[in-house]
Amino acid sequence: MLNDSAFRCCFLVVASLTCAALGAQAQTPAAATAKPRWYKGNTHTHTLNSDGDSTPDDVVRWYREHGYQFLVLTDHNFLTSIDGLNALHGADEKFLVVKGEEVTSPLGEKALHVNGLDVSRKVDPAIGSSVLEILQRNVDEIRAAGGVPHINHPNFRWSITTDELRQVRNNKLFEVYNGHPQVNNLGGGGVPGLEEVWDVILSSGVLLYGVAVDDAHTFKQPGNPNVAGPGRGWVAVRAARLDPRALIEAIERGDFYASTGVELDDLQVSAQRVQITVKPVPWSKYRVQFIGKGGRLLSESTEPTATYEPKGNEGYVRARVLESNGRQAWIQPVVIPARGSGAEPLAAILGVVALAMVLGFRSRSARHD
Ligand SMILES: [Zn+2]
Ligand SMILES: [Zn+2]
Repeated sequence: MLNDSAFRCCFLVVASLTCAALGAQAQTPAAATAKPRWYKGNTHTHTLNSDGDSTPDDVVRWYREHGYQFLVLTDHNFLTSIDGLNALHGADEKFLVVKGEEVTSPLGEKALHVNGLDVSRKVDPAIGSSVLEILQRNVDEIRAAGGVPHINHPNFRWSITTDELRQVRNNKLFEVYNGHPQVNNLGGGGVPGLEEVWDVILSSGVLLYGVAVDDAHTFKQPGNPNVAGPGRGWVAVRAARLDPRALIEAIERGDFYASTGVELDDLQVSAQRVQITVKPVPWSKYRVQFIGKGGRLLSESTEPTATYEPKGNEGYVRARVLESNGRQAWIQPVVIPARGSGAEPLAAILGVVALAMVLGFRSRSARHD
């Protein structure tokens, strides 16, 4: 039989376990950020220091003059210095250049490219005998250099399969859209497009976020769609301040959306609710599609603010905003805990035990009266 103090102890255990279960569900990517703001940036750009056609100064100037707040310079196997660039173009909370490198390893006809964002030093490209071995070594070296990896253009030269991408450890980001005209974002010839790749990987239980990038090389032929020009794909990141660490930590939390031209007025993402408010342009119309496990279309909305409240069987929820002229935004996935499994039944069982103890205690008290 339990005395009063034992009962109180059990009640506290039940209460704390129940709170822990609810707390785990309530965590959101946005919750960790204080006074966040949105910053538009491009995480993949080349200069004359590799195969770009313009100086770092001209490249940075283009982005500074076209409404971006940050730019990562990612030359192939070269760490372009940014100190002078930030002295010239950087401005507090207005514009920032972030150092980076596109770690570039060949494997036969394949091109295995991994961006290292904000690496502290140059990373030497790995050599190896398999796609997965090389990708993993480059990801690990980027992490060792204090950087954040993102795996680039999987369908460029049809280099990286879904299964290979799925198996890379310690990597949270991949390019769901790359603006280079030869990267095969949409797949073809039996090879899946990158959104389909994303859903297969997410459905396997691996959480991956999708970035959109320019991979800009060519600044001297504006308007030519057959060259890798700037301004085609970007990310909007919700971060506490315009600082390299704050930006890349927010990106690794999934607190951003990727875009080829759609802007959002508001975005709220949690396991309880995904709510998207598009910033409309007058001549366009929009569809917001919510997608779950297996790439299943969960719902579609044409309302100015689109909302989806998960039921518990989705696995994950991500969303895309389709604009009537072909522009798009990708909202990052959130994992949906299955209803009726895991911590909830445990909390329910412990709750019943606590209730039984209360009734037992009361009946004992009544007998002693
Ligand atoms: Zn590349
Ligand atoms: Zn590139």
